[in-house]
Amino acid sequence: MTGTATRVLVLNSGSSSVKYQLLDMRDSSRMAVGLVERIGEATSRLVHTPLAGGGERRERTGAIADHSAALKAVADELARDGLGLDSPELAAIGHRVVHGGLRFTEPTVITDEVMAEIERLVPVAPLHNPANITGIRTAQALRPDLPQVAVFDTAFHTTMPESAARYAIDVETADAHRIRRYGFHGTSHAYVSRATAALLGRDPSEVNVIVLHLGNGASASAVAGGRCVDTSMGLTPLEGLVMGTRSGDVDPAVTFHLMRVAGMSADEIDVLLNKKSGLVGLCGDNDMREIRRRVDAGDERAKLAFDIYVHRLRKYIGAYYAVLGRVDAVAFTAGVGENAAPVREAAIAGLEQLGLAVDAGLNAVRSDEARLISPQGARVAVAVVPTDEELEIARQTFELVQ
Ligand code: AMP
Repeated sequence: MTGTATRVLVLNSGSSSVKYQLLDMRDSSRMAVGLVERIGEATSRLVHTPLAGGGERRERTGAIADHSAALKAVADELARDGLGLDSPELAAIGHRVVHGGLRFTEPTVITDEVMAEIERLVPVAPLHNPANITGIRTAQALRPDLPQVAVFDTAFHTTMPESAARYAIDVETADAHRIRRYGFHGTSHAYVSRATAALLGRDPSEVNVIVLHLGNGASASAVAGGRCVDTSMGLTPLEGLVMGTRSGDVDPAVTFHLMRVAGMSADEIDVLLNKKSGLVGLCGDNDMREIRRRVDAGDERAKLAFDIYVHRLRKYIGAYYAVLGRVDAVAFTAGVGENAAPVREAAIAGLEQLGLAVDAGLNAVRSDEARLISPQGARVAVAVVPTDEELEIARQTFELVQ
């Protein structure tokens, strides 16, 4: 790598989509962003927005057969803006990898051995790691000479003590099948906990933060002095909070009950709990905007879904307060956390005894900036902190290859 190579391409490869951002790490600015969705279907769509040099947003639809074709299409779009992947200014490609198990506690330069380990983790991340692997292989084929870095969703949570990370099940069985709580959204929890400390004007090592990442997927974490000590997702992203389409916590006996009394297969229950539950299962909608519109119009099902969502959230706030002992801040992030003032208000209401309160005026302000919504002088800060997983992946990638 030469001293002029300051760009990082961030790739987030899902099973049928690729999201990407090209960043210039001299000032962390975005040069281009985009996504390819419905890969493998006749109606694939690529949306590309160049941000450096004032180009126009471009969109094309039509079959894109696989991830390899998708990444080539992305490379073509970038080349049209003079940002091609063959540029000597490209320092590295950073990949979001969902499951890093216990081994990957840090961003890691991808070697054959690292790839083999990511593959060994497929049984615990069957929906995610295969897509990440395909994305990495495709990017390697395009630029075999370039460092490729894996940034793991689980890495931030590897500091959890055994008391939080282990399920209370037979130890031999658990260890034989690598069953434990890994946690996800780690890049976001890491970024937001640090950004919250910065908002308070303090070093991350000095503050205890409860981070509430509320997007379509949702998770909470307890972060003590910059280190994660507990998080709500477990072996898979199904555990914990009520999400857009996932149930979050249920009695595990629900699974065998459904097998026995409803004759459902393991795969059918997997789909039920991951895709047809949560807000969508409760009221038919998973978009919090639509749910609030329905609540305001007096819709009882939407109201119950909202109440169940908030009830679970409050349970985790209380639990993590006890886990941390002293809390300096509660930070809301991701699509719902950053935008849904009624969720923030309901989650914190009545918790003055814990030093927690939300100022209605501040909570109503819409902004893309990290900000406090607690009343002035509150014992515990309540903050809205927009997450930026791509920037965090780019930073970690760039730091590693420099
Ligand atoms: P994410 O997974 O972080 O992209 O979050 C997506 C979710 O955020 C959507 O499903 C919505 O429920 C929610 N969301 C996005 N924008 C808003 C908004 N303006 N108000 C309420 N909820 C929103």
